[in-house]
Amino acid sequence: MPGSDGILAIGIVGCAGRMGRMLTKIVTESKDVTLVGGTERPGAEPVSNDLGTLAGLSPLGVACTDDPDALFAKADAVLDFTAPVASLAHARLAAKHRKIHVIGTTGMNADDVAALQRSASEAVIVMAPNMSLGVNLLLALVERAARALGEGWDIEIVEMHHRMKVDAPSGTALGLGRAAARGRGVELDEVAVKTRDGVTGARPDGRIGFATLRGGDVVGEHRVIIAAAGERIELGHIATDRAIFARGAVRAALWARGRSPGLYSMKDVLGL
Ligand code: NAD
Repeated sequence: MPGSDGILAIGIVGCAGRMGRMLTKIVTESKDVTLVGGTERPGAEPVSNDLGTLAGLSPLGVACTDDPDALFAKADAVLDFTAPVASLAHARLAAKHRKIHVIGTTGMNADDVAALQRSASEAVIVMAPNMSLGVNLLLALVERAARALGEGWDIEIVEMHHRMKVDAPSGTALGLGRAAARGRGVELDEVAVKTRDGVTGARPDGRIGFATLRGGDVVGEHRVIIAAAGERIELGHIATDRAIFARGAVRAALWARGRSPGLYSMKDVLGL
């Protein structure tokens, strides 16, 4: 019986994706968890392939299916780095089976988060646009810096990711923007500037600006620049290996064991 020996039974939805394959690797390397299955979209090529083979490892005897309902039934926790629509459907399954759901998917809007909140009344959901310890510490530092420095300082957030990324600015960049806005006691939506083009005029006070770079195979880089007349502070994070996100997701699943239903973040998991 998966999970009965204290080992957490893990399922991976989107197991053939960049993060899905990394999750397979990290889950099989971790002693406190065991891999019980994975899914891909119905009709997708990886379906019925071995998860180990998909991840470039030796076969694990665990096949990729297109049946997330069965996966949520047999896993204790499901790790999900897919797409917003898919993650919302998975969260409903987590609620149905009362399981742990760790969501790394980015690009969710406010309605999506409200739908997740509803599922979280019956499932333990941990969601974070960035599962790394370093970025979650950076979020705390940025909030503190923004609070200390006030509106006379201009905040700009620069991020770069690989050319296949589909959402912009990155979920992490937006999270950093929200942290800065919280520090200032404002709503990010009211002060964010996500694009600039042409004759923009001078920079208004109090705005939080974003610049998005895409190219190559960059795993993820974020820099928060806080600039005033005559001086500038830069706080940043560079991810060089997707393993940090996968390790964070496994840590979140282990942390979630035995918790009451609810929507949690990596801040909760890491106790920051
Ligand atoms: P990817 O496109 O390589 O992988 C996504 C996978 O999900 C694909 O294989 C796709 O077929 C699969 N998928 C989509 N819908 C599905 C469904 N309904 N059922 C099963 N599988 C489905 O993308 P990626 O680079 O692995 O990133 C995935 C997501 O994770 C993105 O939103 C990305 O921004 C996010 N991400 C988050 C973190 C974090 O720390 N939170 C880190 C890296 C990436």
